[in-house]
Amino acid sequence: MAALEGVAASPGLGIGTVMVIAEPCLAYEVVEVADAEAEKGRLHSAIEAFSVLTREKAEVVRGRVGDAEAAILEGHVLMISDPFMVAEMDNLIDAGQCAEAALDTVCETFAAMFEAADDDLTRQRAADVRDIKSGVLCQLLGVREVDVSRVPRGTVLVTHDLVPSMTAGLDRDNVVGIVTETGGMTSHSAILARALEIPAVLAVPDAVQELPEGAQVIVDGGEGVVTVAPDEAELAAARVRQEALRREKEALQRFVGKKTVTADGCQVELFGNIGSVEDARAVVDNDGEGVGLFRTEFLFMDGGAMPTEEDQFRAYQQAALIMKGRPVIIRTLDIGGDKDIPYLGLEKEDNPFMGFRAIRYCLAREDVFRTQLRALLRASAFGDVRIMVPLVTGVEELRQVRALIRRYADEFSREGVACNKDVPVGVMIETPAAALMADALAAEADFFSIGTNDLTGYTMAVDRGNDRVRYLYSTFNPAVLRSIRSVIAAGTEAGIPVGMCGEAAADPLLIPLWISFGLTEYSVGPASILATRAAIAGWNHEKARALAAAVMEAVTPDEVLDLLKAASA
Ligand code: PEP
Ligand code: MG
Repeated sequence: MAALEGVAASPGLGIGTVMVIAEPCLAYEVVEVADAEAEKGRLHSAIEAFSVLTREKAEVVRGRVGDAEAAILEGHVLMISDPFMVAEMDNLIDAGQCAEAALDTVCETFAAMFEAADDDLTRQRAADVRDIKSGVLCQLLGVREVDVSRVPRGTVLVTHDLVPSMTAGLDRDNVVGIVTETGGMTSHSAILARALEIPAVLAVPDAVQELPEGAQVIVDGGEGVVTVAPDEAELAAARVRQEALRREKEALQRFVGKKTVTADGCQVELFGNIGSVEDARAVVDNDGEGVGLFRTEFLFMDGGAMPTEEDQFRAYQQAALIMKGRPVIIRTLDIGGDKDIPYLGLEKEDNPFMGFRAIRYCLAREDVFRTQLRALLRASAFGDVRIMVPLVTGVEELRQVRALIRRYADEFSREGVACNKDVPVGVMIETPAAALMADALAAEADFFSIGTNDLTGYTMAVDRGNDRVRYLYSTFNPAVLRSIRSVIAAGTEAGIPVGMCGEAAADPLLIPLWISFGLTEYSVGPASILATRAAIAGWNHEKARALAAAVMEAVTPDEVLDLLKAASA
């Protein structure tokens, strides 16, 4: 049936019934007050009632989710207890305003102040202040807040925005999915949904309108798709997948704490792909051995303004600290193509995937690139940080990046700022040009990481978004496989590590090929780490080489797929 798409914010598959959480109507009448003391009393009682309720919610959250999440709500109580904030409201009441208007004015002033801050964390507090304002207004107006703690089993919450106070009583036994119209990977809603392990799809346009109360839906938080009114076949398929996911997850626990080795004892590295600091925690939780791809564009996409050097430094430093000395490969800004950042004002292009994107943009915008490279260099003092360049087409791009890094590292050494001036610099191999020049690139790069998502598209000359030609987009195509094989051979010949961070690294059907080609590092989504370790453990080199020899004789993707499926059956 109909399917809506959004941000895949929390993986898993939920089947349930839509409950639309409408925001309470908090419109109030502005009146002039004669008795300021009584009005202040009314405001203080409302703040007190709000604080009591919020502390109770924090306790529920502590039990159901954890301390960090409870702290968000406790922070609300602290914020509204700030004597300066309350005094400001009292002053306005003394000047004749009603409690509602005084609260509104002061909270909005604080929110605007937070929004103007340089760092992401402070900016996020604007949402907290508005959340507090709504809570206290509910008390003043006698409006009952939405109570999500008592929703029936099998509920899919659909709402414009899932604010922290709303998620407070949220029970993962009853809520099987979350769909919102706003929010990104690092929004509070996404963090909470992941902490609760509830499948969530965020930023679905017009979700509240498109998903009617009581409708049955399938929320696929791994793919970012909501299927509305699924038919029997879709439901049956979803249930089968759900059960399979549950069993798989259970069985994979035996790989926790184990090395990533083939059946014949050859060890490789198994890293996680991340888009935020929170994801780095998910890599640790899933027993990943490092970060193989930090997609830094998410730091740029989530806020309404460019992250400062300080914002970026903190994010990269935190990722490095969380990984405790294990490798953290951070990719420089990869925008353009399908990743737009409105405030950068990129011009519309007829062919954005072939256009002004990724390293092409960064080398042309030295101001933006300088900020990021400086932040990366500073973070390199806090762990095994490595820099990776996207969409490289030749050695001159790598040389330019290295020259900039050298220049900024020299600046830091003059200023006495700690950084690793020998920070490893690697390239993503995701264009046919880079694949064909792999030997030359390998002579100058510290490592390779194969971006199979783009390499497949560019090798096949296919725009994934175009339905008419999507059938050609397949990493199983022999042309793509030959390209990957020769890239790994070139890297191996030059003695540099060769990893893969595209989706194909986690495809169990393809893993025997990667083993036989000599891939040394796999970087996959955090939720796929254990499954990939298990798949690698299922192959020895002799078996993998025999299969690869047959597969590489095949001349169509179907022949490849048939051979790989037969071998995994
Ligand atoms: C890739 O192209 O394979 C890759 C990992 O980069 P992204 O998916 O971010 O383009
Ligand atoms: Mg790519």
